[in-house]
Order: sequence, then C-alpha cells, then structure tokens
Amino acid sequence: MSDDHLAERHHQLRAQVRQFAESRVAPRVPDMERTSVVETELASAVAQRGWIGVTIDKAYGGMGAGHLAKTIIIEELSRVSGAMGAIAQASQLGVAKIIHFGNEQQKQHWLPQIAAGSCLPTIAVTEPEAGSHVLGMQMTARLKGDHYVLNGRKQYVGNSHIGDLHGVVARTGQGSQGLTAFLVEADRPGLTLAPHTPHLGLHGFSFGELHFTNCRIPMANRLGLEGQGLDVAYSSSVLYGRPNLTAVALGIHQAILEQTIRFTRERIRYGSQLHNLLNIKVKVGQLHSRVMTARLAAYHAAHLLDTGAACDAELMNAKVTNVELALDSARAAMEIHAAAGLHGDAPLSRYLRDAHHIFAPAGTSDVQWLRLADFALGQHKDQWSQRLSTAPTPPALAVDGERA
Ligand SMILES: Cc1cc2nc3c(=O)[nH]c(=O)nc-3n(C[C@H](O)[C@H](O)[C@H](O)COP(=O)(O)OP(=O)(O)OC[C@H]3O[C@@H](n4cnc5c(N)ncnc54)[C@H](O)[C@@H]3O)c2cc1C
Repeated sequence: MSDDHLAERHHQLRAQVRQFAESRVAPRVPDMERTSVVETELASAVAQRGWIGVTIDKAYGGMGAGHLAKTIIIEELSRVSGAMGAIAQASQLGVAKIIHFGNEQQKQHWLPQIAAGSCLPTIAVTEPEAGSHVLGMQMTARLKGDHYVLNGRKQYVGNSHIGDLHGVVARTGQGSQGLTAFLVEADRPGLTLAPHTPHLGLHGFSFGELHFTNCRIPMANRLGLEGQGLDVAYSSSVLYGRPNLTAVALGIHQAILEQTIRFTRERIRYGSQLHNLLNIKVKVGQLHSRVMTARLAAYHAAHLLDTGAACDAELMNAKVTNVELALDSARAAMEIHAAAGLHGDAPLSRYLRDAHHIFAPAGTSDVQWLRLADFALGQHKDQWSQRLSTAPTPPALAVDGERA
C-alpha cells in the first residue's frame, strides 16, 4: 500500500498536519534542540487539534479515524521534529489501554477529555529491572480496604513530564498473572517525578522516571481485572507502540531523504552538483528505495490493523524495517554530507540522534526478529491484533483500498 492508495481523507489530514508542523513546530526546533526543555506548548496545540484522540470512537468525542490516520499524523510531525512525533505517539499510545480495558464509566470519564486535548495519557511499564523482560517488574500494588497502595519506580515513561494520566502496571501477585494496571492521575499524592534530564536526541520530549511512595489508588481506578496487567502492557505495545514508533521512524527517514536531496543539489564539487557523482547518485537511489519500502510496510500494517485482520507479524515487521532502514539511511546520508553533517546544529545530526531513540521502545530489533521467527516457525501464540480487534464491521474494501 503506497501513498497513492490512501483515501482522500488521509491526504487532507496529511496536508493539515504538514501545514501545522511547518508553520508551528519548525520554528521551535532550534530552541528545543538548544535547551532540551520539555515542550509543553506544542504538545497542547497538537492535543487541542484532536490528534491524540485519532483512534477514539466518535461516540466519545474522538476522530474515529483509525490507525492509518494515526500513522500519518505521527509521520508528518516527525518529519519536522522527531521529538514532536514522539510526544504525539506517546499520548496516543496511552489511549490504547482505556479503549481496550477501560469499563464504560472510565471510558465516559477519560476518553472525551483526551479527545478534547485536556488530558494527556501515558503508559508506564518499564522499570530498572524490567525493559524487554516485562515480568521482571518489581513495583507493587497492595490492596488495603477499598484502595491499592503503589510503591516502586517506573523509568523511560514517554511524556513523563507532561502526562496528566499515567497507565501504570504493577505487581499484585507472582508470575504472569500477578500484574495489574491502574490509572494514576499525575497530581496524586505519593507520585513524584525525577527531574528531566536531556538525552542523546528527541530534545523536547520527556521519557523520565515516576516514583511511587505509598501512593493510594481508589479501586475505581483499576483498569481491567486484577491479573490483567500483562495483557494491558502487551496490547499497548503491540497494537499502538509498534505502529507508532514505526511512524516516528518513517517521518525521520523522510526528513533524511529530503535533506540529502537538498544537500546534493546545493553542494558543488568538480564544477557540478554533488549528485552527478555516480556513487552519490546510487546512494540517493538507495535512500529513496529504503523510504519507499519502509512506508509500504508501515501503511500496510496500519491498514490491516484498521480492518481487524490478524497482523501482529506485519506490525513487528513494520517496526523493525522502519527502524533499521532509517538507521541505515542516516549513516548513508552522513557519508554523503561528509564533514558538513557533523555540525551539532546540522539537521542531519539531529535526525541521526533522534533515529537511535526509536530502536528500544516497543521492542528492540532483536526482539522483533525473535518474535517474527516464532511466526515463521509456527511457534507463535494467538494474535493481539485479532483478540482486541475494534473493527466495527468485517473489512469490505472500497475501490481505493479504504474500508467502505
Ligand atoms: C524514546 C523511548 C520512549 C519510551 N517510551 C516508553 C513508554 O512510554 N512507556 C514505557 O513503559 N517504556 C518506554 N520506553 C522504554 C522501552 O520500552 C524500553 O527501552 C524497552 O522495553 C527495552 O528495554 P531496555 O531499554 O531496558 O533494554 P533491555 O530489555 O535491557 O535490552 C538490552 C539488550 O538486550 C536485548 N534483549 C532483551 N531481551 C532479549 C531477549 N528476550 N532475547 C534476546 N535479546 C534480548 C535487547 O535487544 C537489547 O539489545 C521508552 C524508551 C525509549 C528509548
């Protein structure tokens, strides 16, 4: 599925987001890069446009536009600023747990606020002892009367410093059935934030630490049943995390391609544009090919998700393909730019640093390849994309490939 197969509404959405990104986000990028301060104003501006609620059903005030539309929003923001794409995706990711595991009361209460842009949700799973190995989790939630009491630490939580509602998974027992998920308001007593520290890239995005000390959570804030925490964590990561990070990588990749084309046109060597050197021209062709392949994988997986088809393998493939090809292209582009790519404030230096941030979240490349091998060898279990399908009707395809 290429750009040509998108529906008119997708093209319109892309134009809107691109206009916003170029007019509002681009002018802020130099400051975000220089200061690394968490970007709150643009995060609100994105949320107020309804883009965090892109997958929320219209009945709850959302756009009800699905995963392909979400991909386009993240891609277009990331093309201009990886940090801005990361901010949007982390909150869109936070929506998944409420859509799939929230009870009707929780949905009625939170989804309209998220859709309106007045509440930014997050998902907090990772701990110092639990990254890829989710079951290594040690944070506890003890039931005391009509409350749970949370103690422990979460790290690398996307939008840690701007999130209003954290989705927190903690231990209520032993083993894989001993995890439970909770909705924790950012201002709840007992929850504190470690100071924001700058990272290699994604300047303006926060993915920091949440500390819980005897943090009391009412029973009404439990998400799903006791023991369903692993399902909440996996469903968020598989159904939203993978396509979202895919889209961030795609946006950065597109930016690498555009920057490199610009550079090879402007740079004169041997009395001619740089792309007239055949090895440079071949590299530009390879860059273009990688972006096209990456985009196909991304849109195809998101489209399948929208139709309710089983597509866990496609989602993994989209993530690993987009991350790996973007990193390959970042290296090739650096070689084309030679010394000019090394300036701290050169756009390419930013893209290279930002692209490295997309490797770990929602599963490293090795983890994706291991799971893909499970599929190839027939060793995989049931698929999240099918278990939690929200497709309203069986996927009848219209002529242009969009769900009718
Ligand atoms: C930009 C960014 C945003 C993030 N956002 C969030 C968020 O919103 N919420 C959240 O909870 N977390 C978030 N994270 C954390 C992210 O989920 C973890 O980084 C990820 O799960 C990997 O964990 P880790 O970094 O501890 O690496 P580890 O799991 O310690 O992995 C270290 C190395 O071991 C390898 N490895 C691990 N397990 C296996 C295995 N089973 N087989 C073979 N190799 C293996 C990995 O491939 C890697 O090379 C974010 C991280 C980043 C960088």
